[in-house]
Amino acid sequence: MDLGIKGKIALVTASSKGIGKAVAEGLAAEGCVVAICARNKDDLLTTANEIKKKYGAEPIWCVCDLNKLRDIENTFYTVTRQLGKIDILVNNCGGPEAGHFQDLTDSNWQAAFEQVLLSTVRFSNLVVPDMILQEWGRIINITSVAVKQPIDNLMLSNSLRNGVIGFTKSLSNEVAKYNVTVNSVAPGYTLTNRIYDLAVHKAKQVEKSHEAILTEMAKEIPMNRLAGAEEIASAVVYLASKTASYITGNTIQVDGGLNKGVY
Ligand code: NAD
Repeated sequence: MDLGIKGKIALVTASSKGIGKAVAEGLAAEGCVVAICARNKDDLLTTANEIKKKYGAEPIWCVCDLNKLRDIENTFYTVTRQLGKIDILVNNCGGPEAGHFQDLTDSNWQAAFEQVLLSTVRFSNLVVPDMILQEWGRIINITSVAVKQPIDNLMLSNSLRNGVIGFTKSLSNEVAKYNVTVNSVAPGYTLTNRIYDLAVHKAKQVEKSHEAILTEMAKEIPMNRLAGAEEIASAVVYLASKTASYITGNTIQVDGGLNKGVY
């Protein structure tokens, strides 16, 4: 199927590794002109080289700490100066700190708010005016299955990601008439550094191996396995496509059936 996004300018945030990197690859495979950003320059260079080898075009990259407004603005201006107006924005972020309510401090909450919700608001705020002017745009926010079914020990993620869902729905209502769609993809357990780190964290608490924890996670999932990052990316790329022109304000779960609820 031709997804109709060849040549579109796409910015994927927090994209040197994991789901963000897989999304950048998926968009590059569709012929998008891709920009990536994250905090670590070496990781960005490695990812940019890998994408160039696989898809022939090197993404532009920008060092960006999503918790800093100045870095977000710098990334936006670097990308638009070098590539032009952004057509597709994928708001991904690193996972907020794990912990139960009583483990978390005020500064943990503040950092998670800036990373998960405020970075999404800030990047959207920068790209939306041009999307409205050109009467085309796609914003896809990466959240988590936790927005439907909170995950034990992830108080910050469980709380703040639903702010992203509220933002997604509200913004989608405001910009739909300009042909700009805003959706969220909610991944289930996905094989990346994040899930490995969470498994190691939990393994220490319950005195088991992290391998045992990963096996237990897989058993919770009807598909009996964790996702590959590229399986999450496929849904994001579809929502970014011309084909998905009438889908907006939605949260698409990509979780192998992990969320046991009807909705
Ligand atoms: P990951 O740890 O593999 O990759 C995270 C990426 O974010 C890396 O490129 C990292 O450099 C970047 N990053 C981290 N903090 C940053 C910051 N402050 N500024 C800029 N870049 C930053 O994580 P992942 O598994 O790919 O997860 C991506 C998102 O999806 C996370 O928010 C995570 O919580 C969420 N999620 C993941 C899973 C899963 O099972 N892996 C499930 C549900 C939701």
